[in-house]
Amino acid sequence: MSVRICAKCMAVFDGRKWFYDEAEHLRLMRTKRAETTLCPGHQRIEKRRIDGVVTLRGDFLKSHYDEAVNLINNIADKQLQRNVAARVYNMRENGEGIVVETTDKSLAERIGREFERAFNGNLSIQWLQDADFVRVSWQRD
Ligand SMILES: [Zn+2]
Repeated sequence: MSVRICAKCMAVFDGRKWFYDEAEHLRLMRTKRAETTLCPGHQRIEKRRIDGVVTLRGDFLKSHYDEAVNLINNIADKQLQRNVAARVYNMRENGEGIVVETTDKSLAERIGREFERAFNGNLSIQWLQDADFVRVSWQRD
């Protein structure tokens, strides 16, 4: 299979697997040797494939909002290095806290676990639909 690059991010397919590499992506774009397509992460986003929802709630978030958003972004960046299909599909504030939809179950689970590790609070993780979907709730008042 030919070398490919994602049209929407810095993911590269080397003929065997996808990985995230900004320098290689730019190099391939310059040399025009790669076919432009969508990476597995952007394919999932295009298809609106949501595999996990994380709900973060509680008064603690109001005073640590920026920190919480930074943590979510950092976790997503790290997970992306491991798996280009793992993306945040959508992140929004809903009055009670933050809701994060992900294209990947392990990303949702990781966000919950990292919140518990960084800020304590109460974490619950529910696997639904024969483990095809995960619902993660974290709360700290
Ligand atoms: Zn992409």
